[in-house]
Amino acid sequence: MKIFFIASAFALVGSCSSTRYTTKIQNLKDDIHIVDSALVTKYAESITPKDLKEHLLMISDDKLLGRATGEIGQKIAAEYLKNYYQEQNIGSPLSDNNYFQSIPKSFLPKSNESSENVLAYIKGSEIPSEVLIISAHYDHLGVKDGEINNGADDNGSGTSSIMEIAQAFKMAVNQGHSPKRSILFLHVTAEEIGKLGSEYYTTHPVFPLKNTIADLNIDMIGRVDKAHENNKDYLYLIGSDRLSTELHYLSEKVNTTFYNINLDYRYNAENDSNHYYNRSDHYNFAENNIPIIFYFNGEHADYHKPTDTSDKIDFELLAKRSKLIFATAWQLANLDHRIKVDNGIIN
Ligand SMILES: [Zn+2]
Repeated sequence: MKIFFIASAFALVGSCSSTRYTTKIQNLKDDIHIVDSALVTKYAESITPKDLKEHLLMISDDKLLGRATGEIGQKIAAEYLKNYYQEQNIGSPLSDNNYFQSIPKSFLPKSNESSENVLAYIKGSEIPSEVLIISAHYDHLGVKDGEINNGADDNGSGTSSIMEIAQAFKMAVNQGHSPKRSILFLHVTAEEIGKLGSEYYTTHPVFPLKNTIADLNIDMIGRVDKAHENNKDYLYLIGSDRLSTELHYLSEKVNTTFYNINLDYRYNAENDSNHYYNRSDHYNFAENNIPIIFYFNGEHADYHKPTDTSDKIDFELLAKRSKLIFATAWQLANLDHRIKVDNGIIN
C-alpha cells in the first residue's frame, strides 16, 4: 500500500514535469523565427550540381593521390582551395594571402610530414567577434597497396560543399547582405589519422573558442547508404541536440521551411554502437562546449576503399544537402541573439 502510494506520487510529479517540459519545448519552437527567407532561397540557388562537380572532380582526381596528410596530393588540394578563395575574393583570417594554418610535423604521427588547415572567412557586419564555423576535412587515405583512395565522398563532397556555401555567402555580401556574425570556412587536414587538423585548430584557435557560436561539420554527403536506396532524399544529422536544444529546433525549422529533407537521427542515439558523434572533426569543438551539427550520408560499400570515386556521387543530392547547410548557417549567423548552450537540458 505504501509502495503503491509512493509510486503514484511519483507518477503525478512525473506527468507534471513532463507537461512543463513539453510546454517549454513548444515555447522554444514558437520563439524560433526564420529570417531573410527570400534572400536565403535566392543565394542558395548559386549552389549548383555543376559547380559542385567541378570542385569534387578536382579534389578527387588521381593526380592528388588520395590526399594523404603531409603528402604532395594534400598540398595540391590546399593550393586549389587557396586559389579558389582568392579568385572569389574571400579573404583569410590569418593575414593577406596566407590561407594556411601550418601544423608542424611534431604535432602529427612520426610517419607524416607537416600539413595545413585551409581557412577562409567572411567578416560579420554587426557582431564580427562572434564566429560560426563550417568545417570539413579535405585529407584522405592516400595510396594503399598501389591503389589510389580518391575519397570522392570522403570528403570531396564536404570540401566542395563548403566552397559553394562560401561563394553563396560572398554573393550576398557583394549585394549588401553581409552576415551579422563572422563565418569561418575551415578545411581541416589530418582527419583520417585521428582528427588532428581540427584538434590543432581547437588548441590553436584563430578566433577565441568562447566566441565560436557553433560548428557545422560536413563529412560525406554525396552518396546514399543501403538503408535509403528507395528514399534517397535524406540526411543523417548527429549531435544537433547535445549541447543546444535551440540549435536542434532551429535546424529542424530551417529544413521544414526550405527543403523538407528526411532528417534521420538514428545515429544520434547516445548508445549508438557506431559512435559517429566522436568520429569526425566536430567532436573537437563539442569537447569545448561549442554546439555542433554533423551532416553525414552514412557508410556505403565503397567507404574507405579505392572505389569511393566521383562517378558514384549524386550531385543533385549533394546540392540539396549543401543548400540545407547554407540555410542553417545563414540563420545562425543572422539570429538576433547568439544560439543558447544548455547542454541539451532545457531549463
Ligand atoms: Zn571523412
